[in-house]
Formats: sequence, C-alpha cells, structure tokens
Amino acid sequence: MIVVMKPGCPREFIDDVIKRIEDLGYHAHPIYGIERTVIGCVGNEDKTPLQSLENMPGVENAFPILKPYKLAGREFHVEPSQVDISGFKVGGEKLALIAGPCSVESREQVLEIADAVKAAGAQFLRGGAFKPRTSPYAFQGLGEKGLEMLVEARDRTGLRIVTEIVNAEDLPGMVEAKVDLLQIGARNCQNYALLDAVGRSGLPVLLKRGISTLISEYLMAAEYILQHENYKVILCERGIRTFETATRFTLDLNAVPIIKQNSHLPLLVDPSHGTGQWRLVEPMARAAIAAGADGVIVEVHPNPKFALSDGAQSLKPEKFERLVSEVRKIAIAMGRSL
Ligand code: PEP
Ligand code: MN
Repeated sequence: MIVVMKPGCPREFIDDVIKRIEDLGYHAHPIYGIERTVIGCVGNEDKTPLQSLENMPGVENAFPILKPYKLAGREFHVEPSQVDISGFKVGGEKLALIAGPCSVESREQVLEIADAVKAAGAQFLRGGAFKPRTSPYAFQGLGEKGLEMLVEARDRTGLRIVTEIVNAEDLPGMVEAKVDLLQIGARNCQNYALLDAVGRSGLPVLLKRGISTLISEYLMAAEYILQHENYKVILCERGIRTFETATRFTLDLNAVPIIKQNSHLPLLVDPSHGTGQWRLVEPMARAAIAAGADGVIVEVHPNPKFALSDGAQSLKPEKFERLVSEVRKIAIAMGRSL
C-alpha cells in the first residue's frame, strides 16, 4: 500500500499516519519529498486494515502496490534513486566505474592496480578477499589480510573499496574496515539469510544477479535488504546461464531497460563475468551504457596470464584505459559523463 500525503501537509499528520501503520502491524517506509511525502506500507499480505488510512488528516489517497516487490519498485519510488557511496552518487549523471582484480592476490598487486585504475578514471576499487570459488581446491582468497590490503589501497588512492561478502560471520570485519560497498555475488543472490544480515548492517550493497535468477526474483532479493530500511542498494547484471557456450555467461542486456522501467534502484553491468573473455569486455561495456546502465564493474590485472582467478576476462591496465575512453563517448551520447 502507498499512502500519498497532501502537498505541504504538517509533519504531525505524517507522524500520526506512520504511527497508525505501525499500530496496525505493518512497517512504514516514508519518503520525505520536497513537495509531498509518500509512505510505503509493507507487511501482512492482507491490506484491508490499511484502507482506513485514507480518512486520516493530511492523506490525499492510498492505493495498493501491485508488484510483488514493494520498496524496489517504481510504484513506491517513481523517480530513479541515487545511492550515495562515500560521497559518490551512483545513479547520478556521472557513470560509476568500478575496477580492479577479481581477487586480491598480494599487497603489491592490489596497490599497482589501484594506482592504474585511479589514473584511468575509476572511482571505486574492486577486489575479492573472500572468494566463492566453484572448486574447493581453487584459490579461496586472502581473507582478512586481503581486506587490509584493500584498506591500504583506499588510504593511498582515495578510491572507494568494493569487496564480496560470502558469509555473514565476516560482517564485523567488513564494518571495522569501513568497506564502502559490500558485494553480494551471483552465487548468493538468493541467500536470504545473508541478504537479511547485510540489510540489517546498514552497509551499502552491490547485489549481483544470480546466474539463474529471474528479474522478478532478483528484485525480490533486493527487497530483502530494503525491508531493513537499508536503501543503499545497487543492482548489477552480470550474465546468466543459457545454452550458449561461446561465452562464459550470456550478458542479459535486456535486463537493463526492464529493470530500469520497473525499479528505481541504480543498475550497473559487469561485462567481465558476463562474457568471460577480455576481448568482449569493452564492446559490452559500451553496449551496457548505451542500454542505460549507470556504470560498469570491470576486472583489471597487470598480468592476466598469472591471475589467481578470472585471468581470461581481465583487462591489462592499458586496455582498461582504452575502455574508459571508448565508454566515455557513449556516455556523452547518452547525456551522461564519465
Ligand atoms: C566477482 O565479482 O569476482 C564474482 C565472483 O562475481 P559474480 O558473483 O558475479 O560471479
Ligand atoms: Mn571474478
């Protein structure tokens, strides 16, 4: 249910409506606009008790949210939202550029890449310290040591850091390290316990789409985080599993306009995992921005042949620099900047 308050209605009327919503056993999510306030009510499927809200002072009207995702959808939040990550607004006019290694491998490696991607124009450094690998025998990441290296790279360059969380037990370490943006990877897109935990932590989240997650299921996964009043959620299309074997995954660019039409949340695209091949990364990054994405996340490694994970899809720093200048042209054509 959405309750739309009258323009300029006094704050006490808004507070009374919120109180009534909570008294009825629902949860109120107000958006205080300049003109008017809109209150989303979520909870029990049966919304009949909420109909009485329509008669309260200051209420203009109240109507049901038809989509199963309530807080992630455009019915609740009509305008696209911008998510502030340590001073950078993802979803704003300037595209977000996240780049770095698949895995943090060593201090030297991460510092070298951080300098390179910063010089090329990235605002965020990515790097996995806790890695969800298909094989238990593959490199699993440096764990907390890797996190410390990312923090050092941030201190040195000013880049915001993005790293994956695979286990809720690692949350205190992530909070302590003041990770700017917590990634939930494709494999955990529908790990509801983890989504709840990061939602409650209040840390900003980059939620990647699962490899077999429907768009509707994906937006419901985002809902798990948003329900905890953690509105700092950024989505990321990273390719889905199809019958095609020419690429590692099929980068579903259809998802970009579909998600943009149905959700207000910012959306990035990951052309590295989406293709699995470094030669395809730049063209698909361009296509993603042309389709309306708010930025890209790209894997970069100085020596991809020796990368401990995802070398085949990693760009050398000079190729990444080229990607940035090519994507910038598309950004300008789309009325954005980079
Ligand atoms: C990654 O970003 O390195 C990663 C594992 O991504 P995904 O969850 O999309 O596979
Ligand atoms: Mn990777």
